[in-house]
Amino acid sequence: MTDRPLVALVYQRPGMPWMFEGARRAGVDVVLIHRPNPRPDEALPAQLPPAVVRTLPLDIFGDEDAALAAIEELHAERPLAALVTALDVAVPFTAKAARTLGLPGLSEETSFAVRDKREMRRRLEQAGLNTPAYVGLSGPEDWKLAADLVFPVVVKPAGGFTSLGVTRVDSAEELESTVKSVWEVCERYLGYGGSSAQFEGLVIEEYLDGAEYCIESLSYQGRVKIHTIGYKGCPEGPFFEEKVYRAPAPLSPEVERSIVEQITGAHAALGVTDGPTHSELRLRGDEAFLLEMGARVGASGASHHIVESVTGADFTGDTFRIAMGREPLGWDEPVRHQGTGAMYFVPVGGSGRITEIAGLSEAAADPRVDRIVQLLHPGDRILPYPEYSGYPGFVFSRHDSYEDAEQFHDALDESVVIHYE
Ligand code: ADP
Ligand code: CA
Ligand code: CA
Ligand code: CA
Ligand code: CA
Repeated sequence: MTDRPLVALVYQRPGMPWMFEGARRAGVDVVLIHRPNPRPDEALPAQLPPAVVRTLPLDIFGDEDAALAAIEELHAERPLAALVTALDVAVPFTAKAARTLGLPGLSEETSFAVRDKREMRRRLEQAGLNTPAYVGLSGPEDWKLAADLVFPVVVKPAGGFTSLGVTRVDSAEELESTVKSVWEVCERYLGYGGSSAQFEGLVIEEYLDGAEYCIESLSYQGRVKIHTIGYKGCPEGPFFEEKVYRAPAPLSPEVERSIVEQITGAHAALGVTDGPTHSELRLRGDEAFLLEMGARVGASGASHHIVESVTGADFTGDTFRIAMGREPLGWDEPVRHQGTGAMYFVPVGGSGRITEIAGLSEAAADPRVDRIVQLLHPGDRILPYPEYSGYPGFVFSRHDSYEDAEQFHDALDESVVIHYE
């Protein structure tokens, strides 16, 4: 027997190690709850990740009641101190399971507001925060509701992820057909039209043409501490592939003030008082407009790499501490920036069966590279946009300056290439 607290980690991809490493630093044992039939990029390795003492297959979306019952049974055997997930779609289930066991976690209202983009927009607008003109749709036939918006607009699933289906539309004439095709993507990947859809609907909102930023924050007992603001590029669509993430981003004082104001306000508007958030926003002029706030560690845990490189904070470890109701480390000290963290998304650059991902082993030899994660391999298939195949891989690095990170990413643009059959 051990006296370490036991925490359930829900649907964490084993190839992304930061959550497991955070659990180890926080001194907890992990029971890894995983899909009964994992996709190739989620398969359990022969040797379990750090901190994992047990694995438990549960179909949390297909049979929520059975999954909750199994978690209660687990809790009766050895009590859980918390439940944690870094997967956005699993946030409502994880919060519900925590409530069922009487453990700390998000309220039902909050876990809904951070997952349904229609409710998120409504709450932000009601709180007086920057909101692009938008409409919520419950079916594709509602596309006409968006006729009065100023084009271009962006059509997106109400409860989507990783930009799945998100599409820019430039004119009213193209709106109906785009809404239809986004809805079809939702039917295939989000279960729209069936019984498994979590938040069946779409949002259409005005296109924000400024730079994009990601914000990593921790909250504890209602106080929000913004750890990093990072640059995410200036993607123009029509589909929004993620490419780079570098923090801390160079910002004018006006823009920084607006970002801090919007992020702090969004926590209050959405009711996120404890735990990590991963937020994305875009600028219009000097004003920041939130795109979405996830109540979880971003990028399957990889936001830890960004935060730790920039501030030295134990971001994923603190996520476990807060989940157990404990104070994060150094909570009374201000955030200090001491380095640059970077993340490069291996570009898909085509579709079909992968024969080779060139340039990654060379990148691994660069002393600035902390880690490379490859999720897709030769033989795996990439579907053409806007279909979803998962990310091929990432390069995580640390730099002495923002400019060095930028140059490094420009060089990877030349050297890292996926070849297809
Ligand atoms: P998801 O939950 O699928 O990640 P997001 O709302 O984050 O959906 O949208 C994905 C991407 O689409 C964003 O990162 C951004 O690049 C782009 N995008 C979304 N909404 C807008 C908008 N209103 N204006 C400009 N770009 C947008
Ligand atoms: Ca999302
Ligand atoms: Ca997003
Ligand atoms: Ca993202
Ligand atoms: Ca303002």
